[in-house]
Amino acid sequence: MSNGFTALIDLHTHTNQSDGTTSPDDLMAAAKAAGLDAIAITDHDTFEGYLLARPAALEHGLELVCGIELSTRTAEFPVHLLGYFLHTPPTLSFTKWLTEQHQARHERNLKLAAKLQSLRLDVTLEEAKQLGRGVTGRVHFARVMIAKGYVRDIKEAFNRYLAEGAPAYVAMEDVLLDEAIPRMREAGGLPVIAHPGRMRLGANETEFIHRCADRGLAGLEVIHSDHSLEEALRYQRLAREFGLAMTGGSDFHGDNKPRLKLGFGYEGNVRVPNEWLQALRDLPRN
Ligand SMILES: [Zn+2]
Ligand SMILES: [Zn+2]
Repeated sequence: MSNGFTALIDLHTHTNQSDGTTSPDDLMAAAKAAGLDAIAITDHDTFEGYLLARPAALEHGLELVCGIELSTRTAEFPVHLLGYFLHTPPTLSFTKWLTEQHQARHERNLKLAAKLQSLRLDVTLEEAKQLGRGVTGRVHFARVMIAKGYVRDIKEAFNRYLAEGAPAYVAMEDVLLDEAIPRMREAGGLPVIAHPGRMRLGANETEFIHRCADRGLAGLEVIHSDHSLEEALRYQRLAREFGLAMTGGSDFHGDNKPRLKLGFGYEGNVRVPNEWLQALRDLPRN
């Protein structure tokens, strides 16, 4: 898989339809130029980038995989969940469910901005959205507050304004991982835990992944630009242990992560063999 002649792919990329800066057309051209055989667009909460990229993918002879990345949570911590729709397009009910999530988040953010204004903080939803990574959340409001000198850091922003019980708090939670996994399965998708290394679960990691595997998880993102080689090897072992498929990608965001190369990550720390995509395709599914 590292002889230099292996066909390489990238199963984790973002376009300007979520929080990347590259248009879907340009991303396909870049994938072709990088010598990739296949690419998945995994924008946050939207399939727009994938739909827009299809003609260009065809033109370049690239295999384009329909994907998505959802922000979910357990009771204790946030989890990014990738979904790959390899066999069938996502169902209408799934797309509708996504739209409801967008709407709920937008309404929460409007209320949050209004509360901040009523507390005499000049922070608007538009400003937070500019920092928002696809999904605008409390942390983006916090960063605007820091930039304007209202608070020193994110911790203070939450403690004084944004945390539960604080004066600008508006209840709204990410969807539960335990709900998102079956929803994705029902919609014909393969749910995969994104960049598990970022969660820093320590001693709880094996148990968490085991539990997700029992609940319908299909795969684990083993290779990711933020993973060390040790982490990649650990996730490869865990994937094998629990019968999960292995995926990998750069998490390309265009100019929002300028040093990160499509298909190759940081200084070549991402190289995902095409065989992994074929193995994903061969997985049993609902
Ligand atoms: Zn992510
Ligand atoms: Zn991502």
